[in-house]
Amino acid sequence: MPISRRTFLASCAALGVASMLGVFASLAAAAAPSATTVASGVTRVDLGAVVVTMLNDGYFARPLDANFVRNATLEEVQAALGEAGLPTDRVDVPFNPMIVDVGGQRVLFDAGNGEFGAPTAGKLLENMASAGIDPQSINAVVISHFHGDHINGLRNREGDLVFANATVYVPAPEWNWWMDDERMASAPEAMKGAFNATRRVFAPIADSVVQFEPGVEVLPGVEVLPGVQSLPAYGHTPGHTAFLIEGGERRLMYWADTTNVAALFVRNPDWAVMLDMDAEAARQTRRDLAEMILRDELLLAGFHLPGAAIGSLVRRGDGYDFIPLVD
Ligand SMILES: [Zn+2]
Repeated sequence: MPISRRTFLASCAALGVASMLGVFASLAAAAAPSATTVASGVTRVDLGAVVVTMLNDGYFARPLDANFVRNATLEEVQAALGEAGLPTDRVDVPFNPMIVDVGGQRVLFDAGNGEFGAPTAGKLLENMASAGIDPQSINAVVISHFHGDHINGLRNREGDLVFANATVYVPAPEWNWWMDDERMASAPEAMKGAFNATRRVFAPIADSVVQFEPGVEVLPGVEVLPGVQSLPAYGHTPGHTAFLIEGGERRLMYWADTTNVAALFVRNPDWAVMLDMDAEAARQTRRDLAEMILRDELLLAGFHLPGAAIGSLVRRGDGYDFIPLVD
């Protein structure tokens, strides 16, 4: 139904702008895949060929200080948070692992905090139970990078593997960087915890972990996991990797930590979060992947995105907005 500017303005006057925006939101939603809220923190999206389950792993309330964004002032950061209707004294960083059922395989992308995060984190297993997903039914865990919120959930405090039947797939450049003992020995004190986590999680399974080179099919042989490709997304960490999943009607990009808090770094893609190890490479990656998403009309999922953490990217000014399928 074409709507002329005049009709639109007249309708706005009649209905009120807020309700007209609601009409447009529902028109936009009609073109998007339907998302089902299974439980609080569990969203299922059927892409046709593939079913995606987003599982919240809680959040971390990080007090906001001037260091969080390297190249913006605290005032600018607070203004961006305020514009998004968020608190300005802290940033709530959500964690969102993703499960994709594809070709008879059940694949978990990133393992969450497990028992090693903030008290408000580590909800993945609880939410998997709500979703009716048995951890033992996971066949593969694909890791985007080696920060603790992505790997610690692989192994519990007793040392047991949480997804005992899964093969673990990691980006080779990430493995090579973090598992280098000389680099660990000479690392600054502030990074020792991150290096120790990689040893705790991976040392006992070093022989069975499958390393892949980003930019090629993730898993060896299409018969294992067809339709999942990896994309180099370096910058946040040296081997940080994004993934493209063939969904049928729509392709999905899982871009992991290409952005931290969306209101800051989706909105202002040139801002650098203090956690980006190579800020300039991360900035370029954000720009490149965002433009690819717009060009190819991809769905987007991300580990630190808000709401159900799966939805659409739209251009706004010199940056972007992320619109989750479910708030
Ligand atoms: Zn992260």
